[in-house]
Parts: sequence; C-alpha cells; structure tokens
Amino acid sequence: MRELARQYAAGLPALDTHSLMEGELLQSGGVRLEFMPMGERDGAYDPENRVILINSQARPERQRFTLAHEISHALLLSDDDLLSDLHDGYEGERLENMIETLCNVGASAILIPDALMVELLERFGATGRGIAELVRRADVSGSAALYALAEAATGQVLLAVCAPVGRGEGRVLSVRASAATAGVKYSLRPGTPIPDEHPVQIASETGLEISGKSYVPFRSGRKLPAIVNVYPDGNGRRVFASFDLEPDKPGPDKPGPDKPGPDKPETAAGDSASSPDSVQM
Ligand SMILES: [Zn+2]
Repeated sequence: MRELARQYAAGLPALDTHSLMEGELLQSGGVRLEFMPMGERDGAYDPENRVILINSQARPERQRFTLAHEISHALLLSDDDLLSDLHDGYEGERLENMIETLCNVGASAILIPDALMVELLERFGATGRGIAELVRRADVSGSAALYALAEAATGQVLLAVCAPVGRGEGRVLSVRASAATAGVKYSLRPGTPIPDEHPVQIASETGLEISGKSYVPFRSGRKLPAIVNVYPDGNGRRVFASFDLEPDKPGPDKPGPDKPGPDKPETAAGDSASSPDSVQM
C-alpha cells in the first residue's frame, strides 16, 4: 500500500488538494472530485460513478487527508494482488478495518514525502518538536503526523498529542492521540489526564518548549521514567510530546553527544517568534 501510494504521489505536480487529483490513475479513470455536505462522514469513493466525495463542511486540513485516503481506496481497488491477499487473510469487519487502516497508511505516504520524513528525523528525531515540524511542513493533522513519525522512527519512543478537554474549572489537559515506535509495549490511552507538575502541563501553560528527564504519565499512576520533549503548538491549544524510553541508547534518529549541534543555541518555542533584529526591507 505504501509503495502504491508513493508511486502515485511521485507523479503529482504538487500536494495541495487540487493537485492530488492529478495522478495517473484518477486521470486515466476519469475520476471526479465533488464536495458536498456529508454529516458525520469525511468522504467516500464511488468506483461505479467514478467520483470521490468529500464532506464540504470538514476543515480544509481534514478534507485534504480524506482525499488522500479516498485516493488510497482507488489505488487499492486497482491492485488485484493486494486485494486478493486482503480477502484471503481477512473477512467481515476485520477486512473492513484492515482496508481503512491501509488507506490511512496510504494517505500518510501520499502527503508526507519520504525525503521530508528523513530530513525531520535527522534534525529533530522522534520528538514533540519533530511532530510540530511535520504538522507544519506537510500540512497534516497532529494525529496524522504522530502516526507517521512513530512508524518511521527507530528506538523506543511514545508520542502524544495533548489538548485541554472540558471547560472552565473542569478543564483538564489530556492525551488526545498517541502512538509508539515498533516494539514499545506501552500505550498512552486517549483521555489520560496529565498531572499538574508534569512537563507536558507546564509547557502547555507557559507556551515554552521543555526537554528533560521526567516520566510517562500513565492513567494507572505508574510513572515510567523517560526523556520528555514537549513542544507547544503556539496558540495555547495543544502540545506535542515525546517520551523516550531508552535515553541511554543512542539511535540513528537521536543526536548523540558527539554530533555537532546547531550553530545557534536552542531557543524556547513561543519566545523565538519575534526576532528583535529583523529589518523591514
Ligand atoms: Zn475509507
């Protein structure tokens, strides 16, 4: 699926919503794109009428991911080998779920070019900052970035997008989505509240990037030691967090102590937006 999606993306002039439709498969098949109100549904691919439907009421970022997802359905239907493997291996609801998962994998592969992922992993590793950069550069949602980064990264890292849930006094910073690199036995369930003194909470309140030794705040109260990097989104709504579970073991995506660092000292997020010496030209 990933390879199908990569090949499709390689033939596109650009990755904006309009350009996504210009792939060989859709063009030769005469597939159209239509936006319409669809209630709860994000979109659909109708192979008989050769049309991809997208919910016109969804956010643009969501529409773009949905389009890439529906294109993946079309790619999947065009690949007889992959289809028959799927039907041999699964049936009923499990088959449906497998197809939906594969189409999300395909959507990520279309929207997040390999070269971008390699570059970001080299520069930032599987960190909160890395998620934020991927969201910005690939123009995808926090959860799409999170899953893609967890899948591409090595090492033992848990990644999470956290955001406040509820209103007023009842407002609690909680895990909205999480993912882990291969081999991590733990997961951070959506809805898990973040304790008051945890770096994720502090970064959310101050709007500053925080890195250092801390712990994974499991719902059970268990505190699993980890190196934490928390990067606030900038508008005070959500924060991106990484929990490195084996900080002593340098991996290829983790800058070791002997690698040359950036020329400038690290600046905290939110503080660095206004550079004092900028000159209007
Ligand atoms: Zn689908």
